[in-house]
Amino acid sequence: MKPNAIEEHLKTLSLHRIAEIYIEEAENAAKAKRSFQDYLLRLLEAQVINKTERSVNRKMQVAAFPHLKRLEEFDFSYQPKINEKLIRELASLEFLQAAKNILFIGPPGVGKTHLAISIGIKACQAGKRVIFYSAEKLTDELAAAEVSGMLNKKLDTLLRLDLLIIDELGYLSLSNQTAKLFFQLISKRYEKGSVIVTTNKPFEQWGEIFNDDVVAAAVLDRLLHHSYPFYINGKSYRLKNIENLKS
Ligand code: ADP
Ligand code: MG
Repeated sequence: MKPNAIEEHLKTLSLHRIAEIYIEEAENAAKAKRSFQDYLLRLLEAQVINKTERSVNRKMQVAAFPHLKRLEEFDFSYQPKINEKLIRELASLEFLQAAKNILFIGPPGVGKTHLAISIGIKACQAGKRVIFYSAEKLTDELAAAEVSGMLNKKLDTLLRLDLLIIDELGYLSLSNQTAKLFFQLISKRYEKGSVIVTTNKPFEQWGEIFNDDVVAAAVLDRLLHHSYPFYINGKSYRLKNIENLKS
């Protein structure tokens, strides 16, 4: 056997995982008296798993989650008003096919961002294109794109995503110009692609975010039409340890 020739072919074909394991797997196969087909199958399976992992990792990098918060780490017993069953259903990602939206509304620390990220991670794992934005970064980028004459290109990029996550809408109010850009984005994605929004502001106060009741109503109308709103008004998880110290 000429291992160098094998390794060269594997390199040409970018079968790097097989290159790493084929010698060890051959020894194992000989010991266990596995068939040639079985050996080949094991190598191919390892390569396929590796390819999927790399693709998910790339998707996760592009998504740019600020932290990796998983659904498995979310303690539903701490936030009993959240409909756990519905969250788990949403994590199966059917809402993406129907281009439905999810809204998490509530005060700081109740897990809005955690839940948004955890559904985003599930989407990446399913091979979907996801990006996580803070509302501030998103509107800054839209405004910058408009100034440089690249708005349509930017909107097209955002339209191609399977899931757009917009975090912390309402912490800062938008200028008239960015409010209109935000509306343009939401109306373009309307019924085409899903959005997850987290916000600390109840809908009645969205006029303050957009500095304009009409724009706020138009954005809300499109976001809410096919949507799953979650109103979370429980205790802040950030204060959990303080509570434990007191008791
Ligand atoms: P919000 O976005 O509502 O302000 P976060 O999602 O950022 O809150 O939650 C604050 C912190 O508490 C994060 O570290 C998050 O992972 C954690 N957290 C919040 N709620 C829960 C929960 N029910 N179970 C586990 N961790 C939680
Ligand atoms: Mg948050």
